[in-house]
Amino acid sequence: MTFELGPFTAIADRVFIARAEPASVTIGLLVGEESAVVIDTGSSPTQGAAILAAAQEQAGSVPVRHAVITHAHADHYFGLGGLPGVSSVAHRGLVAAARAAEEQAKPGVAPTELVEPSRTFSLATTIDLGACYVEIVHFGRGHTDHDVVVLVPGRGVVFAGDLLESEGGPWAGEDTWPTEWPQTLDGMLGILNKASVVVPGHGPLMSREDAFAQRAELAWYGGKAEELYDARTPARGAWREGAEWPWPQAQSEAFLEVAMRRLAASGRRPSRSLRLLT
Ligand SMILES: [Zn+2]
Repeated sequence: MTFELGPFTAIADRVFIARAEPASVTIGLLVGEESAVVIDTGSSPTQGAAILAAAQEQAGSVPVRHAVITHAHADHYFGLGGLPGVSSVAHRGLVAAARAAEEQAKPGVAPTELVEPSRTFSLATTIDLGACYVEIVHFGRGHTDHDVVVLVPGRGVVFAGDLLESEGGPWAGEDTWPTEWPQTLDGMLGILNKASVVVPGHGPLMSREDAFAQRAELAWYGGKAEELYDARTPARGAWREGAEWPWPQAQSEAFLEVAMRRLAASGRRPSRSLRLLT
């Protein structure tokens, strides 16, 4: 496993991104006149320290004082231990998720190297950097129960975390809320315009149209999960070559399995008939 960090490149005035391997996670940087903020911290404290050093070099004389963690997954959060002295912020759900993650062995990180963010919030918060600022918003559950989106007003840039991914498509795990995901995205999509630049958690930049298309795919899978669940059909084996399925088989079926487990846990009773007629 190789930990590498690509160079920061500008995507808008004062806004930069870099890619960190091995997870190809996108790291953001916004440089104000008084301070700068990094968005996500890579996969290990060593990588986090490298990200901080590279961000500081890019920011020049402006100190990197802040970090935003979009969610608790290792490639976004586990680098935070490498940013001592930097004030960090995340949704309050990150802490509980991180405690659960501590129980999993993660390459490159010992549980003792995980640090909690300096502060947490529930709905929204801002960081003033001087001449520009970021708004950090939790629109609801989706990829996890604590995803946050980082908006850069005046520059048309939105950091979506893993609520959007342009490389390999959205990823769902045990902590994902598949059928709520599209509505959560709606909060973010509603503020985009034609010129908006959307920065996904992984992969190349996305346009507003790209983001809407991925939202539509997520909604399609949510509907498909309900259809299969009601028909008592397992997710495994449901995929059909050449059919309308937007994603490859393994990704499709994994997503549906998570969605169907959530439906079962919600107490939904499978039904083959239209509920209007029962
Ligand atoms: Zn993630």
